[in-house]
Parts: sequence; C-alpha cells; structure tokens
Amino acid sequence: MPYFIEAILPLALPNTFTYAVTEAEYGFLQQGMRVAVPFGKNKIYTGLVASLHQTPPRLYEAKEIHHILDEKPIVTPIQLQHWKWVADYYMCTIGEVYKSALPSGLLLESETIITPKKDFVAEGADLNDEEYLVYEALQVQSALKIQEVSNILNKKTVLPVINRLISKNAISLQEEISEKYKPKAIRYIRLQEQFLQQEQLSQLLEVLSRAKKQREAVMHYFQLQASDKKPVAVKKLTDAGITATVIKSLIDKEIFEEYYIEEDRIQFEGSNNAGFSLSEKQQLAFNSITTSFEQHNVTLLHGITSSGKTEIYIKLIEGYIQSGKQVLYLLPEIALTAQLVIRLSAYFGNKVAVYHSKYSNNERVESWLQVLEGSEKAQVIIGARSALFLPFNNLGLIVIDEEHEQSFKQQDPAPRYHARDAAIVLANYHNAKVLLGSATPSLESYFNVQSGKYGYAELKERYGNVIPPEIILIDLKDKYKRKQMTGHFSDTMTDAVAETLALGKQVILFQNRRGFSPYIECMTCGHVPQCPQCDVSLTYYKYKNALRCHYCGYHIASPTQCHKCHSTDISTKGFGTEQIEQELKVLFPEKNSWRMDQDTTRGRHGYEKIIDSFKNREIDILVGTQMLAKGLHFDNVGMVGILNADNMLYQPDFRAFERAYQMMVQVAGRAGRKNDRGRVLVQTYNPLHNVIRQVTENDYEGMFAEQVYERHNYKYPPYYRLIRITLRHKDYEKVKNAALWLYNVLCSQLQVPVLGPEEPAISRIRNEYIRSLMVKIPPGTGLQPTKKAILKVLQSLDAVAQYKAVKITINADPY
Ligand code: ADP
Ligand code: ZN
Ligand code: ZN
Repeated sequence: MPYFIEAILPLALPNTFTYAVTEAEYGFLQQGMRVAVPFGKNKIYTGLVASLHQTPPRLYEAKEIHHILDEKPIVTPIQLQHWKWVADYYMCTIGEVYKSALPSGLLLESETIITPKKDFVAEGADLNDEEYLVYEALQVQSALKIQEVSNILNKKTVLPVINRLISKNAISLQEEISEKYKPKAIRYIRLQEQFLQQEQLSQLLEVLSRAKKQREAVMHYFQLQASDKKPVAVKKLTDAGITATVIKSLIDKEIFEEYYIEEDRIQFEGSNNAGFSLSEKQQLAFNSITTSFEQHNVTLLHGITSSGKTEIYIKLIEGYIQSGKQVLYLLPEIALTAQLVIRLSAYFGNKVAVYHSKYSNNERVESWLQVLEGSEKAQVIIGARSALFLPFNNLGLIVIDEEHEQSFKQQDPAPRYHARDAAIVLANYHNAKVLLGSATPSLESYFNVQSGKYGYAELKERYGNVIPPEIILIDLKDKYKRKQMTGHFSDTMTDAVAETLALGKQVILFQNRRGFSPYIECMTCGHVPQCPQCDVSLTYYKYKNALRCHYCGYHIASPTQCHKCHSTDISTKGFGTEQIEQELKVLFPEKNSWRMDQDTTRGRHGYEKIIDSFKNREIDILVGTQMLAKGLHFDNVGMVGILNADNMLYQPDFRAFERAYQMMVQVAGRAGRKNDRGRVLVQTYNPLHNVIRQVTENDYEGMFAEQVYERHNYKYPPYYRLIRITLRHKDYEKVKNAALWLYNVLCSQLQVPVLGPEEPAISRIRNEYIRSLMVKIPPGTGLQPTKKAILKVLQSLDAVAQYKAVKITINADPY
C-alpha cells in the first residue's frame, strides 16, 4: 500500500504536489509540518504538508520526500483555511501565500540570500544601472535571493552584478540582519549626590562665586528643576544660553554628572501612561464598542485625531488578555511600531511582541513559534500587515489602527491582499472581534457601518479638551495677482511660520511631491527629458544636480543645455519637497529645516531618526510628503502648512477626493496636540472646492455622502468590485495585441462590464510596455464565479503561443 502527502510549495504554481512517503513517515507526519522535497531538476524546497492520502498521482510518478523538518506542525488548520481564502479572493496560488506568510527563516532553500550592508551609501559609489536596481530593491526588501535578483534584472546571469556589489561593499551574502532600532538617548545632567543637602549647596555656590558663569549655570539648573519638576536635559540649559564648555567644566569638577535616558521612556514618566484612566468621553466610546461587539464582529471607532484612540485600544486589549486571548494590533507603517511598543509594554510588560518584515529572520521565527505555542510573551502582537499570517491559536481581538491607510493593501508581489479585509476574515475563523480605528474612515468601512454590517462608536473630542486646529485657507490665485508670493510661500504662510517659531513652537509643512521639481523643460523647444526605460519625465534634484526616474532609479547629471536643441534656457516646472526646503533656508536662514520623504528616509532607520530629531526639537521646520500624515505624535507643533492642496485633488484616480480629504485632515491633526490650539494653513487655487470646504469644516459626513454618490453613479467601490489585470512585455505590439485578445475574450465570457485595454498614465516601466484591463463586478453578481471565469480566460491566453511570454498580474480590489 503506497503512502502520499500533498505538499504546498512556495511557488507561483497552482495546486499542491504529491510526494511519496514511507509508512513510518506517514504515521508521523501531520498537516502543517514542513518537509524538504525535491522539485524540478535539482532543486530542493521547503514544502508544507496539506494532507495525507493513499491515492497515487495520475499524471506523474510521485518523488520521495528528502526529509521531515518538524517534530510538530508549525502551521495551524485555521491558517491553511485562511491562506486558501486569500489565494481564492486575491486570485493567486496558495504557494504564493505560503511563501509570503512564512518567515524566510522557516523557508530555507538551496539558495543564497543577499543582504544590504548597513553602512553603505549609494551616493558617490558610482553604481551602474543594474547595480542600482539591486541596491534599490534591497532598500525595500532587506534580503533577496539570487532568483529574485535575476527577476529584477530580467536576466539569468546575475553573478557578475552581485560580485561587483560585493566588491563595492554594498551587499553581503548569507548574513543575518539583526539590527534593531534603538530609541535615541537624550543627555541629562544632575547634581552629584554630595551637594543635595541644603548647606552643601550654599557652600557650593560660594565656591563658585568667582566662576560666575558656572554659578549661573547651577542656579539655572535649580530654576528648571523647580519649575519643570522633571529631569533636566542638557539641551534645556544650552537653550537658555549656558554654553557647553561651562557645563563640561562643571562635570569635570564633579559637581554635575551626566546620564542618558531614551527619549520615549522619559515621555512615559511624564504622561504617566502605565496607570491612566479613560476620560468620560473615552469611557462612553469604550462602552459603545463593547455593546456593539455583542451584535457586530466588526466595529469602527471613528475618533478624531488626538482623541486618545490608543488609550481605548489599550483598555480593550486588557480585557482580552486577561481572559487568556491573543490580540493582534495592526499598524499601517513599520516605523510606527517603535513608538507603540514602548507605549504598550509600559502597560502590558513583556506580553508584547512585534512582528514585521524588517525584523531579522531569527526574531521572526522566534515570534512565530511564540504565537504558535500561545506563549505569555506574545499575547499582544504588534505588526504591519504580514503579522496577519502568524499561527494564532486563540485570537480574541484584532485592532486595526488608521484603517483607512492604503498601505494595508499589498501591491507587489502576490498575494495582493488588503490586510484590513483579510483580517476581518481571519477574525471570523477565530470567532474574534475586530476594531477598526480612524479619524478619517475609508469610504468602504463607513459604508458598511451605514448598511448595518459594522458597528460604530465615535469620539469627537480631543483628549484633555484640546480644541481642534483652526483652518485658514489661502487663495493662491489672489496671492500671485497681488504679488504676495515669495517662491511658493504666500506672505500669510511666511508670517504664520515666523510667528509660530517665535513662540518656540515647531512647524510642519506638507508637499505631496518629492524632489526639487517634477520635471525640467527647455524654454526654446519645449523638450522635457524622459526616462529611457519608462514613460515618465525625470524628476529634477537640485542638490545632487541630477535627473532621476522615480520608477526605475535611472539617473543622469542634470543637463546644462537641452539634449535636443542645445539651448541653455532650461527651466524647472512644479515643485517638490527639496525646493521647499531650499526656499526655507532663504526665508528662515537661522532656523533648522529638514525634509522627510522617500529620499531622506532610505536607510533602515532613516525615518525614525528624523522623527526623533523632530521630537527632540532639533528641527524647527519639517517639510514632508504624506509620510507625515501617518499617526505620528508630536507635542510642540504650533502650525501645519499645506503648500498646494490642488495636486492632491487632481489625481487620475477614483479615490482622489477621498484620499485628499483624509490626507489633509490627518496632516492637520498634527497641529496643536497638547496645551494649546494649533493652526493649519492651506494654500490652494480652489478655496471653494467641496473637498477643501469639507476639510475646513471637518465635515466627514458631507464628504462621505458626496463621494458615495459619485461612486454609485460611476460604478465604483463600495458598490462595484474591481479587478485589474495588467499585462507587461518588452514588445509593444505583443502587449497591445494580447490585451486586445484578452479584452475580447473576457467580454464574451463574462456578463459584467470590462474596461480597457487602457494605456496607463505611465505606460512603460523598466522597458516593459504596460496595458491594463478593469473588470467591474456589479453588486449582486457572484464574485467567486466571476473570478473563476477570469482565471479560465487567462489560462487560455497562456495557451496562445505568441502571448505566452506576456507577464500578467491580477489585482482584486486594487488601490
Ligand atoms: P489618537 O486618537 O490620535 O490616536 P492618542 O491615543 O495618541 O490619540 O492620544 C493623544 C494624546 O493624549 C497622547 O499623548 C495620549 O497619551 C494622551 N491621552 C489620551 N487619552 C489619555 C488618557 N485617558 N489619560 C492620559 N493621557 C491620555
Ligand atoms: Zn530645446
Ligand atoms: Zn525609469
């Protein structure tokens, strides 16, 4: 009697694969254990046992497994069920889900891992295009296999490129990534113990009577201690004009001693977070959540920025872990975890674990196993979207903070899942509850509240009765006409920045574009330099004096004369964060302005470093892109300026208005969080635009009503479901014809609208031409049957010889 297993392999191939096992192995193996199996000519993969059976495969002879890797299952039946759902719903293979779900430490392959060297700087390293592509991919993925490099470069022999990168010290092979983010330590001083008595003190001051400056410093230290009643940071003294030399000599004389505290810890002492209690309004919201959970599995907490949603989450989590349940806390951005971990572990001690893709393999494997065992140490898991795939065995609650954030949707590679939606399904399998939180809920979620599918709780007051910021509109047309503009700053904006800084407050400026300007143009012939590999104009970077492609990383030195007509009359068009930063250096030369965008946060901890410096008030003005809008807490921001609201409004995307509203309200929410009211200044050519008005009036319901009306009329979500099919190939004609073929077949096979084939706004990336089709599934039409039909059509496309090489990606619920 033969014995077999069905194994899932981490590959984009449909179905599972049958392997032969011995009777003893058959008796030992269980679903969810890993086995090393041969595949193809001479490759070995980590397979996952999906089932055991005794039916030989019909089409091939089953190979034998190599060996068994686990003593007990490391993947649970619920996980397999959930992965299957993800694969079906997001139209990919279960192998792809398996591959992205398991930490790569559990997915060893006979392949080499490439990791970036952390102290390597690309600037000046003279990387060629291919090297740069690999470097750039490593900034995002933190580890690559040879095969992935080969996919990125689109060729088989990649070893020369890898060897060059090694010799340039940019990468290393097979090295664990184990660096963890450490919050910045702040320097404090205190008086040495022997001076703490009253009489020693007067003696001390007498001793110092001739060192006038040192005496002043000590006096000032006392004043600060008396007024602030907390540790005295060195910065406080230097701010008051006491020089570093004076402080140093007091330390040398052993009068002062210095010590360091991590910045976030100290904030805790201040805000006394470990033992807080909810405000009256927060308690009301908390009660409506618990009541709502009696009827709804999913509840939306609609709480304005700074209303203290986190505190409500904490109280809610407490109840679940007391009853022995696991809690998953999803965040839209890895960089936010550092702050939250400190906040939650102050409350829950070491019951908090973290899981995300920037953690090292070892750490991820460790968290995986802790969750699997239901360990005390991993009762609350904080993570970005991938934490959803952990082996929970007793999940009670999932909190999804900033649920409207589009980064919850994975774009590439497959599975292209939306973590919020996949989390709701997962919760269902566990009989767990889901709390969605946002100040600006997604239309989808609010729509589900209105239709009664989700429960609802609201919190419309900032914690501590802080008044929401005042929003001031500035009409750019008028300002330009009256010549009241300096660069991209209206006089109103400049004055407000100056006033805010004069009060010792910090400023945030928002511009949703990076670089100096989106493109340069020849004023003689109109030529705009384009990326030779992509269908986009090159972004101008003044500081590096370079033109660069945001899609493939291609870059050249900025031309001094037009490539076409050789005219030297070249001008920049539009503006990005780099330009604003430069203008600030002229407008406020003595102030420290800094920029936060994809270009300045490339390194592994680039983001946290800027946030830390801003919190420590080493930065006066922070200019940034939408990165600034993601749930960050600063307590000294007096004003927020939006330099151009219009470029958010006019995006070719059916979500543009919803997004613009969310982005503006979220950035505005960074102003005036503690103590006093903040101001938000919005520069726009369209002060009468509905979305701008809705932002000023904080009119979420108005925005919602208007947008769902449009979505209904134009057949978009939340009414219609969308599936986008993208075709890519180097041969223009091939893609064009394949797309047309696909369009025709889909139209004849499906009973739903198919749009396209469309040339997307950027119709060529990395030398591949792109065409896309959009299938719109009306409400009431079966989703799964339509998806099955689409997959069938795609299979038949794959059978057409001349289109076989065209690369296809499917995106269900694209964002
Ligand atoms: P958001 O709703 O924007 O997530 P937070 O939860 O971050 O707001 O709260 C904003 C600020 O108010 C934080 O500094 C937080 O520590 C403080 N805060 C909120 N609720 C309380 C509370 N009940 N007790 C003490 N501090 C609170
Ligand atoms: Zn020209
Ligand atoms: Zn390009």
